[in-house]
Amino acid sequence: MKRIVIIGGGASGLAAAVTAAEQGCDVTVLEQKEKTGKKILATGNGRCNLTNLQISEVCYRSRNQEFPMKVIRQVSVEETLKFFNQLGLLTKDRNGYVYPVSDQASSVAELLAEAAKDRGAKLVCSSRVTAVDVRKKGFRVTAMETEGEKTYDCDKVILASGSKASPVTGSDGSGYILAKELGHHVIEPLPALVQLVGKGGWLRRVAGVRTEAIVTLMLDGIPVAEDRGELQLTDYGISGIPVFQVSRYASVGLYEGKQVRASIDFLPFMEQNKVTEFLFDRRERLSYLSGAKFLSGVLAEKLACVLLSEAGISLTDQVKQIPDRKLEKLAALAKGFSLLITGTKSFEQAQICCGGVDTSQVDSRTMESRILPGFYLTGEILDVDGICGGYNLQWAWSTGILAGRAAAGANKETRETDDQN
Ligand SMILES: Cc1cc2nc3c(=O)[nH]c(=O)nc-3n(C[C@H](O)[C@H](O)[C@H](O)COP(=O)(O)OP(=O)(O)OC[C@H]3O[C@@H](n4cnc5c(N)ncnc54)[C@H](O)[C@@H]3O)c2cc1C
Repeated sequence: MKRIVIIGGGASGLAAAVTAAEQGCDVTVLEQKEKTGKKILATGNGRCNLTNLQISEVCYRSRNQEFPMKVIRQVSVEETLKFFNQLGLLTKDRNGYVYPVSDQASSVAELLAEAAKDRGAKLVCSSRVTAVDVRKKGFRVTAMETEGEKTYDCDKVILASGSKASPVTGSDGSGYILAKELGHHVIEPLPALVQLVGKGGWLRRVAGVRTEAIVTLMLDGIPVAEDRGELQLTDYGISGIPVFQVSRYASVGLYEGKQVRASIDFLPFMEQNKVTEFLFDRRERLSYLSGAKFLSGVLAEKLACVLLSEAGISLTDQVKQIPDRKLEKLAALAKGFSLLITGTKSFEQAQICCGGVDTSQVDSRTMESRILPGFYLTGEILDVDGICGGYNLQWAWSTGILAGRAAAGANKETRETDDQN
């Protein structure tokens, strides 16, 4: 019977365990936390957005841009939903975003763990893997456990240890060290899907405001990513889904020493060339208002006051006294307020990492290392990051199922040509 050790009992590790155990392999999952699936519990605000029905290449970023979809085409969203259905999980879809009908992430984690055990996998918790040694035949995995050091000899190893994001859930980056020790190249892991820290005294005055906006991320003055959604202004900078979506570019830009700016469009519902006209018309119709109230009903008051002050408009004078040039400046600020980004929040706050093991060293048909046969890598440890919306878990499920199947020697006919990688 083939012996497989899986390092990490998170999303991809559990999916791999169910799949390989189902094929009759002797599967052992070594998980350093006291229980498996801790990160799954935190996903989707406790509801687990486990995948998305709208999936394509633009949902993933990797140095090897074609790699993620090559993998996902082999274990598709449809197949993943079938996999979960077989485990007893009913799912529902909200505009393409898929959740358990129970709205409980715990049901996903529990059903995976129970299914793995039912199929004969051993889940060993409080077992921290410290080394993987290549033997003449197979591998020896060393782990620190409550009773002391323990070794596991096996034929195949699946490294499913996650990234460095949210280390409280167990993914503390130790997997990168194991991968490196075995000769893999690791692209610097950086926080992604994370809040951005900005420079500006005005931030304190708008903290707490939530507003619809388009956030454009600029590196050395060049726009590289954009997203629209609810922006949250905080005393340290900016947060919210549109910020998360562009944050990985900020992380990489800062790491590479580039100037990083977020250009914020606070009036995304209005065309650029209409804004000045809108403000001129408003000045005429609402001439009786004080400056501070000029944008009442358009933007939150705290935010409006900041924009007015930055445009040099007096908050106490009457609206009719605002000169044309200041209205033009206000229009420009409302459509493209520039915030210098000085950092990101840390790995503790990040949902995922960008960077990781270079996918050119991994076979997309099997998730097997190209430099170490018998060694497989799954999930977030790889240099693939998805946008918000269920794409990172889909990556974990697809890679886990694929690796579990391949390690068990139960590969389906590959749907790609042999030279796909
Ligand atoms: C707050 C939050 C919300 C999220 N929400 C969503 C969402 O709604 N939808 C979505 O698609 N994605 C979401 N994600 C991202 C998603 O959870 C991850 O991308 C996914 O869990 C990665 O799976 P993985 O198997 O690679 O790693 P993980 O799930 O992190 O599992 C890795 C496991 O390996 C263990 N481990 C690490 N090192 C060792 C070692 N040396 N020895 C033994 N065990 C080890 C860890 O303890 C951990 O249990 C969210 C992430 C966070 C933090």
